Amino acid sequence: MPTVQAQVIATYSRRMRLRLAEDTDVEARIKGKKLKPVCGDYVTAEPIENEDDWLITAVRDRENALARPNMRGQVEVLAANVDLLIAVAAAAPDPDWFILDRYLAAAENMRIDAVVVFNKTDLAARDAETTMALGDYAQTGYPVLLCSAETESGIDELQQVIRDQTAIIVGQSGVGKSSIINVLMGGRTQRTKEISSKTGEGKHTTVNSMMLDLPGAGRIIDSPGVRDYAPALDSVPAVVSGFREIEKAGHDCRFANCRHLREPGCAVKSGVENDIINARRYESYRRLLFLTEKLDQRT
Ligand code: GDP
Ligand code: ZN
Repeated sequence: MPTVQAQVIATYSRRMRLRLAEDTDVEARIKGKKLKPVCGDYVTAEPIENEDDWLITAVRDRENALARPNMRGQVEVLAANVDLLIAVAAAAPDPDWFILDRYLAAAENMRIDAVVVFNKTDLAARDAETTMALGDYAQTGYPVLLCSAETESGIDELQQVIRDQTAIIVGQSGVGKSSIINVLMGGRTQRTKEISSKTGEGKHTTVNSMMLDLPGAGRIIDSPGVRDYAPALDSVPAVVSGFREIEKAGHDCRFANCRHLREPGCAVKSGVENDIINARRYESYRRLLFLTEKLDQRT
């Protein structure tokens, strides 16, 4: 039986769509119960005799993964092999910068680039708090893009940031993620919202995550599980690495395991006092740290 390397481009529970080569997509089942491929995974697959379906027999090591703890305290992987995280906030609903910081912290822990997108610029002028927050992100080193999915201003710039990379788009519900994707897709109807379930009664089941090829270049993984979710991190060091300016300043703390709260000789605290580290970002760091420690005690 010939086996090939393929990429998972859409998933519904245990059914997947695989890209074997450009313009060659097939549907697949998964061999056994242990394999848990997700959108973006590279897998080994083989055709099944007398069927259209293929069989996924192995999942290759992931370069990175966006994961979240599920109800049972296990880690659930939502997407794999991503290059860029697009964190969206908007003029409405009111931005929650703490949530945005959590997305950025997830990107830092995945060791991928992130860009901050502020959508709905066609609405009322930005307030002082928003202008300040966006300025802080730019100063921290994140590209900040202003756009409007409504007027399509700024969308070309976003496409230029995506280049030929694979991106995921995240942000609070209602900020305009689907609208931005639609504009990037050039208004094309998303061709594969469904995956057939040949094992069922011939009815179609809705896809729960998919990789969209952008007509410009690059791809976007669209997954409801990923979209609105600000993942918790699983350890104190992960929280520290989630804030690049805090991680950097932390090298100068007196104690190597400084949590940057009340420790003496803390370079992060003095950075905040001297306005070298942004106080709002530091507050996000503290909140995420407390949240992470609370989760830690539960398990
Ligand atoms: P999602 O939940 O993040 O996917 O947000 P949607 O794309 O569904 O958008 C939520 C609402 O905001 C919809 O009513 C959109 O029409 C509207 N919306 C999205 N982008 C813009 C924009 O740039 N300007 C304005 N005025 N409305 C927008
Ligand atoms: Zn410190």
